[in-house]
Amino acid sequence: MPMEHYDVIIIGAGLAGLHCARLLGKLRLRVLLADRKESLDTSIHTTGIFVRRTLEDFDIPEDCLGPIIRDVTLYSPSRRRMNLASSYDEFRVGKMGQLYKRYLDHCLRAGVTWMPGTRYVTHTRERNVLAVRLDNPSGQKSRCVTARYLIGADGANSRVARDLGLELNREWIVGVEDVYANVPLDGPPRLHCFLDPAIAPGYLAWVANDGEDTHIGVGGYAALFEPVQALERFKSSLQGIADLRNATLIERRGGRIPVGGVLRNIACPQGLLIGDAAGAVSPLTAGGLDPCMRLSTLAAKVIGEYLATGSAEALAAYSGELFRARFASRIWMRRLVSTIRQPMLLEIACSSLRLPILNSFAWHVFFGRGSFPDVNVQGNPEPACEAKGACL
Ligand SMILES: Cc1cc2nc3c(=O)[nH]c(=O)nc-3n(C[C@H](O)[C@H](O)[C@H](O)COP(=O)(O)OP(=O)(O)OC[C@H]3O[C@@H](n4cnc5c(N)ncnc54)[C@H](O)[C@@H]3O)c2cc1C
Repeated sequence: MPMEHYDVIIIGAGLAGLHCARLLGKLRLRVLLADRKESLDTSIHTTGIFVRRTLEDFDIPEDCLGPIIRDVTLYSPSRRRMNLASSYDEFRVGKMGQLYKRYLDHCLRAGVTWMPGTRYVTHTRERNVLAVRLDNPSGQKSRCVTARYLIGADGANSRVARDLGLELNREWIVGVEDVYANVPLDGPPRLHCFLDPAIAPGYLAWVANDGEDTHIGVGGYAALFEPVQALERFKSSLQGIADLRNATLIERRGGRIPVGGVLRNIACPQGLLIGDAAGAVSPLTAGGLDPCMRLSTLAAKVIGEYLATGSAEALAAYSGELFRARFASRIWMRRLVSTIRQPMLLEIACSSLRLPILNSFAWHVFFGRGSFPDVNVQGNPEPACEAKGACL
């Protein structure tokens, strides 16, 4: 039997892989999208909070989004509150299972071949053809398919990156959350963010209640806490913030979040990385959904041009170096945040956020529009967000 052949194989059908696959399908390339999951609405590992910039720039279907959130409350370790309210529609929590399935539907309509329950194992190269070995998650039913190009959209701990000899994520935090239905909403939909090194060392604990689902989670450096225990302690401390007495637990989500900034070496003539595999997450806010949409868009353009022309110049536009300079301040701030382990210091830092100059900094972190720079195919960062001074 002849081996199946594709132009592009994408490993991983998270938001990055799905978005890239539907764009490449529209370019009429023969695309295979494979994920070890049998169904895309299981084992979701994101809260799914989309920021205004993504909602404005991308076609996220309305029915895959929860209600609009404009209000944020920031809590100090002693639970002093600071409220921030925007006049814009800042956030919406994605119904991620539904969104993944909708994007998969777009992929299928664009002619993409979909292989669920299919795990990437390894690949070899002969001349310009890659032979990619796939099996199912229990290690049986091994098969080999060939392709001209391989995309690693396989998350923070990317096996494709390793096999392509590209850079690997080295710094991450871990997050875990419980998703509930039937949590009453007191006031407008709101994002509650808690700075507390005891339950979320180096990051945040959060409650996102948009009046439909409520996400309660903690995140931090794995070496500094036990996430599940911290989550339980956090949930039991939410009197007056989230009433869980009649709540129904829907699911638990969790995973690694790379926070070292986009990696430098993310492409080679055989393949490239997108999404978490490329470290495309804001080092400060740990938001990865906007970066993965933008980087996947660029990747699709670059691959389309590269496969059409074979030009190495086309690939040069896809270098993490182009983004890293724009991330410098955020990487620096992450390092600073990760060193603050004393509740008292964090308390002082929170109090100083009430000063007008620092208050506008907090405003920028939550409501700024600079989560990830756009890059055009020639490799130049788009000036728009820099000009607004909002690239935190
Ligand atoms: C708890 C938590 C909450 C978060 N909340 C937010 C948020 O609210 N807003 C935000 O902007 N960001 C958030 N993030 C970050 C954001 O979710 C990620 O940056 C984003 O989802 C990454 O998407 P991705 O497609 O790159 O990776 P993933 O969604 O991880 O997709 C990778 C896919 O690859 C598949 N895969 C892996 N290995 C293989 C293999 N060998 N073979 C086949 N398939 C494979 C996996 O099954 C998976 O489906 C959160 C992260 C966590 C952990």
